[in-house]
Amino acid sequence: MLDYDDHVAVAVSGGKDSLTLLNVLVRLEGRFPKSRLTAVCVDEGIDGYRDEALELARRACSRLGVEQVVVSYRELFGVTTDEIAGLKLGQTPCAYCGVFRRKAINKAAAKIGATKIATAHNLDDEVQTVLLNMLHGDPMRIVRSGPFLKDSRGKFLPRIKPLSDIPEKEIVLYAYLNRLEFQSIECPHGHEALRNDIRAFLNQLEQKHPGSKFTLQRAAERLRDTLTETTQITELRQCEKCGDPTPHQLCEACVMLETITA
Ligand code: SF4
Ligand code: ZN
Repeated sequence: MLDYDDHVAVAVSGGKDSLTLLNVLVRLEGRFPKSRLTAVCVDEGIDGYRDEALELARRACSRLGVEQVVVSYRELFGVTTDEIAGLKLGQTPCAYCGVFRRKAINKAAAKIGATKIATAHNLDDEVQTVLLNMLHGDPMRIVRSGPFLKDSRGKFLPRIKPLSDIPEKEIVLYAYLNRLEFQSIECPHGHEALRNDIRAFLNQLEQKHPGSKFTLQRAAERLRDTLTETTQITELRQCEKCGDPTPHQLCEACVMLETITA
């Protein structure tokens, strides 16, 4: 996933996963003098929640000697997640928040001249997303995800997920053993209802049939390889509004911004 001279933009939220990832990458980076790390933190504008996480991220960066960049939805999109939640748009605030976060991280990474973006998705997140995509009737999304995503034409920065094979429980253990100070309160807007149900289902399955999460992850990898080889993948073009890569005329974030301002 990494080259010896990478400048990695690490998405740091202040939660256990991203602080674990930052810790591990700092250790690795120390062995490669030409590499560099920058923590990218996103302020989604969630009262009583994000401020604490940003402060924990700031403290971790200063302890580890990592440069930190903070970008906010207010400054980038003119709207916060709290405001989106108040608009009752029909979709959950998470649907908007997730798309905007991806865009915010892309923008920040491009601005600082990063060569890769690292996110802290763990095994549980990954298999939940596989099932979510199936239940949303969009299996092709599985092709556009995965632990190492790069565009052969170089139109967007490669994204890596170094923790995608690590179960959430092991990350919690790492965070406690290394005495990482992380945010443990939940976002007030909650996660998507369907993801919550899938999480509960997968945990039950794992308890009864240990190894199920790994098996699903491997199945998704095989599906991804087969679909990539056999299916005509839609060419990415540039969003007519913001220039970001998208298979459509407008990228998801621009479509969402239009709904919000309509
Ligand atoms: Fe955003 Fe939803 Fe995560 Fe809250 S739970 S930070 S609204 S994606
Ligand atoms: Zn766009």
